[in-house]
Amino acid sequence: MGLRPNLLTRRTAGVATSTLALLLSTAAVGVVPAASAFSAAPAGVCAEPADAHADARVAKGGHAKLDPNHLTAKQVRDREADLAAAQRERANFRTGAVAPLATVTIPVVVHVIQENSTRAGGNIPDSLITQQISVLNQAYAGSTGGAATAFSFQLTKINRVTNTSWYPIVQGSSAERSMKTSLRTGGKNTLNMYLGELSDGLLGWATFPKRTLDKMDGVVVLNESLPGGSATNYNQGDTGTHEIGHWLNLYHTFQGGCSGSGDSVSDTPAEASPAYQCPTGRDTCSTTGKDPITNFMDYTYDSCMYQFTAGQASRMLTAWNAYRAA
Ligand SMILES: [Zn+2]
Repeated sequence: MGLRPNLLTRRTAGVATSTLALLLSTAAVGVVPAASAFSAAPAGVCAEPADAHADARVAKGGHAKLDPNHLTAKQVRDREADLAAAQRERANFRTGAVAPLATVTIPVVVHVIQENSTRAGGNIPDSLITQQISVLNQAYAGSTGGAATAFSFQLTKINRVTNTSWYPIVQGSSAERSMKTSLRTGGKNTLNMYLGELSDGLLGWATFPKRTLDKMDGVVVLNESLPGGSATNYNQGDTGTHEIGHWLNLYHTFQGGCSGSGDSVSDTPAEASPAYQCPTGRDTCSTTGKDPITNFMDYTYDSCMYQFTAGQASRMLTAWNAYRAA
């Protein structure tokens, strides 16, 4: 059901910030939201930080009526201006002595949030986590069909935490803040991934990079979306791939719809609205190219998405050197 009213309420109240949410709906209504639903900015959204963002990824037959946290045009402009400023800042800091990185190995700390020691209580096996790291490495190496990016991932720690007050992980809650404040580790280059049952049928959410390290930085992913998990159609690990794309500064492929600078990447054809399931041949904009439904930054099934573009790879590396490099 898209972002549910209670999420909207929390967002409007200014509690949920700096996150983007991936939604798994169990609604059985086949309506694809119009582009206008995503450009409408409900009251309160404009007061959010520029990096506030959310997304919905809806199960077969589901629909998202409204995604109040999708970036507005102004939020995109603000983020692009911040990227340019961060790049200038780094250029001055480097004074030519430190070259930008061309390849990056990202240390990954996985926090498994559990309610108890059962699988239903969040106790997913290490094997799913190592499978997730493999999926990330394949996706970001371009070995599933897309462009090779600069990034690889190295699991450095699995941190199992049993805490009933953090389970399920509720997006935008004080419990989420408490959890991340207690657990987040490493510098801006360290990917902290939180796994658990999530509130409101969400698949995951993430933060965009910022110039200053924030304890909220990281990605939250539904534990059963890991490869071999029980989240039907979303259990090949691409929720992780998608959310980390945001963590590395990518927008959705449908950002901005058919007009303007879209997702700020030139080689992802414009798309009027999110694509769901796997609608081969979908073409919603009159501009060149069919909708990028196989891109990791759309909303299609895991089985449908398998690539980043060269432009996205470049954007991620630029953002890494501007924001996350040491
Ligand atoms: Zn997203």
